[in-house]
Amino acid sequence: MNAGKSGVLSVVATPIGNLGDLSPRAVEVLRTATVIAAEDTRHSRSLLQHFGITTPLAALHEHNERAAVASLIAKLQSGADIALISDAGTPLISDPGFRLVRAAREAGIAVSPVPGACAAIAALSVAGLPSDRFVFEGFLPAKAAARRVRLRELANEPRTLVIYESSHRIVECCADLRDTFGAQREARLLRELTKVHETCLGAALGEIAERVAIDPEQRLGECVLVVAGHGEEADAKLAEGRRVYALLREELAPAQAAKLAAAISGAPRKTLYGGRGTRDE
Ligand code: SAM
Repeated sequence: MNAGKSGVLSVVATPIGNLGDLSPRAVEVLRTATVIAAEDTRHSRSLLQHFGITTPLAALHEHNERAAVASLIAKLQSGADIALISDAGTPLISDPGFRLVRAAREAGIAVSPVPGACAAIAALSVAGLPSDRFVFEGFLPAKAAARRVRLRELANEPRTLVIYESSHRIVECCADLRDTFGAQREARLLRELTKVHETCLGAALGEIAERVAIDPEQRLGECVLVVAGHGEEADAKLAEGRRVYALLREELAPAQAAKLAAAISGAPRKTLYGGRGTRDE
């Protein structure tokens, strides 16, 4: 405790499965904080017990956030150091904490991150889809009509999309993605990241929708969907078409090579024969 001076609000990421992902710095900050503000104190107590952390807990969840924020800000102003955690991963990322961090900033209180696991970033890092730019969409609306409206708004988004979904809505969500974005759009369904049953189903949306509908295993646990942006599959086909065309041109006339390369790759023939980037340019 820092008498006369405000304490620090540390925003601490906790594991999304594997307890080994709690960093030594996170353990230290949690151990030395005056209070840990937690989304679900019962849930967090078992994590903290595992690391021998006995710091007192205060509840901060969406139902008590307004009242809890006022009391936590008062504690910070009286010099207490507070660590904010959620049930798993990084607080504020589809988790509570935004109001507390905003209020702390407005009150001139220092807010410091202790980074660590985040399912969205973990999924993106292993999806093998373009990651130079991406959109974090979080949870789509739970109601079907609102979800479809949101997906229609996202259908032409050129950046990779990262979506959280709960296992009991994954079948409907994948079917809506297929129907709105097209069955050919490339995507990944990543489940149980960092846990024993970690899987990555990588395929076109049509196939993913079918697999989750028929295979109960693909509906178990926690999951993230990573979906290629609009235009990505066209780019991939074009690159493949150009590669095949270049090979066939070793043996065939341009028109014939383009016809075959288009049939093999799915790229439009005209973009290969005499198109930019071909040797017949
Ligand atoms: N704050 C968390 C974070 O940093 O990722 C996210 C919390 S949000 C309430 C929970 C959602 O995150 C789940 O429904 C799932 O979409 C995703 N998620 C969390 N842990 C996961 C895991 N181990 N594997 C895959 N997805 C996970």
